Amino acid sequence: MQTSADFVVIGGGCIGVSVAWHLAKRKAGRIVLLERNEFLGQESTGRCAGGIRAQFSTEINTRLSLLSIDVFERWADVIGEPLQYRQWGYCFLLTSDALVASFRKSHAMWTKLGMKVDWLAPAQVEQRLPYVNIEGVQGATFHQRDGFGDPNDITMGYAKRARELGVVIETGAEVLEIKRDASGRRATGVRTSKGEIKAGTVILCTGAWTRRLGGMVGVDVPIDPIRRQIIVTDKFDEIADPFPMTVDLSTTLYFHRESGGVLIGMSDQTESAGFDTSFNEEYGEKMLLTAMERAPVLANASPKHKWAGLYEVTPDHHPIIDRLGPMENVYACAGFSGHGLMHAPAAGLVTSELVLDGRAGSLDISQLALDRFADPSRLHDEANVI
Ligand SMILES: Cc1cc2nc3c(=O)[nH]c(=O)nc-3n(C[C@H](O)[C@H](O)[C@H](O)COP(=O)(O)OP(=O)(O)OC[C@H]3O[C@@H](n4cnc5c(N)ncnc54)[C@H](O)[C@@H]3O)c2cc1C
Repeated sequence: MQTSADFVVIGGGCIGVSVAWHLAKRKAGRIVLLERNEFLGQESTGRCAGGIRAQFSTEINTRLSLLSIDVFERWADVIGEPLQYRQWGYCFLLTSDALVASFRKSHAMWTKLGMKVDWLAPAQVEQRLPYVNIEGVQGATFHQRDGFGDPNDITMGYAKRARELGVVIETGAEVLEIKRDASGRRATGVRTSKGEIKAGTVILCTGAWTRRLGGMVGVDVPIDPIRRQIIVTDKFDEIADPFPMTVDLSTTLYFHRESGGVLIGMSDQTESAGFDTSFNEEYGEKMLLTAMERAPVLANASPKHKWAGLYEVTPDHHPIIDRLGPMENVYACAGFSGHGLMHAPAAGLVTSELVLDGRAGSLDISQLALDRFADPSRLHDEANVI
């Protein structure tokens, strides 16, 4: 194992590999990425639904998505690897006056940012998505550039190119301690399960575990692990392609095409913070029943795979991309609150700029600063979380 590096990136999910590649592309110096598991992308990244969309309620989240979608669309040119990516759109079904009002506001913001989002009346929803039971649906939004992509392709694409640029990726290396100098304000390196590495800068890309890592340098990083579940059905062709990601925010139900079947997700709002990733069968039943109510044809589909993973949730459902003050050389890029895959390209870019240039030039990320949590007036909650 390396004994020193200019940059130690901790965490080998989609965020860590994107950060490492962006740093390497800037020829930042010697970069080591540490992942405690045997393989990259085995945690939240490998358990995610692959959704990629720009329809968020806040401008910063929307901008993170637009920057990222621009990269996903050019993936073969930028990364030089194939990406299974379908821009079959996201359709948000709006079932209350409050949702309609909130999406009307967002629609104006999206239009200002150049997005072309269709506003559908219930009859148009019925026509475009014949599998949807439109009971209670007052309207819907549809954005064709949204869709879904393969988390493994994204993670391995970044990792492959990063390695070629000299990034050393150490798997099976759990960080047990972040060492500090006598002042306590500078990290000097990390102690891992495989040995020690001296580090010029340490970047935490540790998703749902970031609070633990922040605690190693005495900084509270408010990211909670929250279990989320997915069911994928057997091959199912009673919904024709292109079958868009269909979201019912009133129940948080979402479903889309996956490996010839249908991927179904829904967020248990009663779930409390914890690292349990066992599948809750009772809630799984509820997911299926809710899915069959919204898309009755799904009664003919057979569940094939099911799993749970962790969202990495901040109090305002936005990531933290910042230096962990008072530490001078420890940064975090984490807490995407269930939307990190779609934001991985932009997150890697702005983090590399922040670390190397002292500020992110591609996007104003002041709203993602850690100290926002000390001042409730600076918190703008993301409403479109599922
Ligand atoms: C069910 C589900 C559905 C989702 N659907 C979507 C979706 O449709 N679209 C979307 O964009 N996002 C989705 N997400 C969220 C997305 O998966 C995450 O936001 C994203 O994967 C976060 O990436 P990450 O690299 O920060 O975290 P992770 O992938 O969890 O990577 C963090 C890594 O840090 C490592 N680590 C932790 N501690 C240490 C340590 N001490 N030493 C070394 N390594 C350490 C972990 O092993 C892990 O590999 C979903 C998540 C779940 C669970």
